[in-house]
Amino acid sequence: MRAPAGVPVVMTADRTLMADHRTIFGGMVAASQTTTVPRLLMDHLLAPRSALAVAPLGLRRIEAALIGDGFASDEVAVVASERLPEVIGPETRVIAVSAGEACGLGMNSTTMTAISGGEIYPRHLVRDLMRRIAGLRERAPHAKVILGGPGAWQLLADDSLRVELGVDHVVSGQAEGNAPEVFHAAVDGDALPTLIAGEPVAVSAIPAIRGASAMGVVELSRGCGLGCHYCVMGREPMAHLTEETVLADVRTNVAAGLRSIGAISEDLLRYGADGMRPRPERLLALLRRMREIDGVGLIQTDHANIISVAGWPDEQLRELRALMVGESGARFPWMNLGVESASGELLARSGSAKLGGVDPADWGEFAAEQLRRLIRVGFMPMASLMLRLPGETEAHVQRTLDWVEGLADEPLTIFPMLYAPIDGSPVPTRADLTSMHWRLIKRCYDVNFREVPRMFFDGQTAAGVPLARRLALQALGFGQIALWSALFAWRGWRAEA
Ligand code: SF4
Repeated sequence: MRAPAGVPVVMTADRTLMADHRTIFGGMVAASQTTTVPRLLMDHLLAPRSALAVAPLGLRRIEAALIGDGFASDEVAVVASERLPEVIGPETRVIAVSAGEACGLGMNSTTMTAISGGEIYPRHLVRDLMRRIAGLRERAPHAKVILGGPGAWQLLADDSLRVELGVDHVVSGQAEGNAPEVFHAAVDGDALPTLIAGEPVAVSAIPAIRGASAMGVVELSRGCGLGCHYCVMGREPMAHLTEETVLADVRTNVAAGLRSIGAISEDLLRYGADGMRPRPERLLALLRRMREIDGVGLIQTDHANIISVAGWPDEQLRELRALMVGESGARFPWMNLGVESASGELLARSGSAKLGGVDPADWGEFAAEQLRRLIRVGFMPMASLMLRLPGETEAHVQRTLDWVEGLADEPLTIFPMLYAPIDGSPVPTRADLTSMHWRLIKRCYDVNFREVPRMFFDGQTAAGVPLARRLALQALGFGQIALWSALFAWRGWRAEA
């Protein structure tokens, strides 16, 4: 590295995106905390510094695109925020920041702040990071600050916040296509617009990463294309990365010392599909090849769709589980499935495309049956629900509460989230939650309080998290359960009063 003269292109992100999470769920737990949790616990337990040089996958892709376009590897530094003073200097021309939650407008953020109060940590830490960068800009008078990443859209409508954060340019969307051009222009001191629309590349041209990605995540596909009106992925057709790119990314992570891999997609079970119809053999073939890579431990995932589960026979779901778990010993591999509501009519009316061809009247039972199938083959489904969907009535909430009641004894988790519009209409807040919503939230968390600790402990054990840290996290978790139980009891008392 070129410090103290500085590295021309410096890339970073806030701690929640660059910490030593080991598991995807560990990263989700950390990113769900609000400032009601002491910062010390965040820094040392929930999102501790990583000894490995991990970075968000998106930053790794941009790094690879820049180097593939002619930047020398010592002209690009991808570092955690505490190492910024080592790499920012007079020769620095670009400080690129990946942000997940610049404004805290994401569904998880609005839900967690509505339930527990405080400010969501990802937003809090982005602000911290930007203050740190502002303090270092004197050393790099010619540097431009470019912000991108999954939360960049949140700055597009709020120019005053962009200025307040010290961001010169915002790049929205996937940007491997034009990032090299933008970064070359910034390095050369050429004028650039404030808002820059990222340009994607064809999946076959997505560059393999050159350094470890946070939580060992590798993309299997991009986009979704199912068409939900309230989702930015709704109109982005799903495109699948080539097996060779996925395997190269896995090898890079394993070589860097990561053992647990996160195989991510908006719908894992549709990897390799033509259109909406799953092709289980394509995903199974890919996972068999991932398993052949020496050192791969637990393979985790994030999302899948209920209708895609229905397209997989039990036998292939069992094989999928076996391939994901490998020799890691994991007993409760999870998979997040958006059920959203037990009312198919409400889902259809609110613009959700998740029903596929299912009759809206059958949706609740259909979704419950797919969750039970996953349980039977050894997964621990993580169902998510959406509160305050447009057109929602108390009867819809009651129906979903009854649905939760019917599944409450099963080994699964159920996370209620607040609907988060993407069209600029007002974001629901705590004030919009009725006593019926609170009853539903409480019932979901009765289940989660029972299942999450063992699921979390199990995943962390399989991923090799040291026992002391696992126990400390369990202790913190039980403390949070006590606090949330008290909060729900108080809400219930207020509702009855
Ligand atoms: S299925 Fe999920 S990712 Fe796809 S459009 Fe709907 S909400 Fe978005």
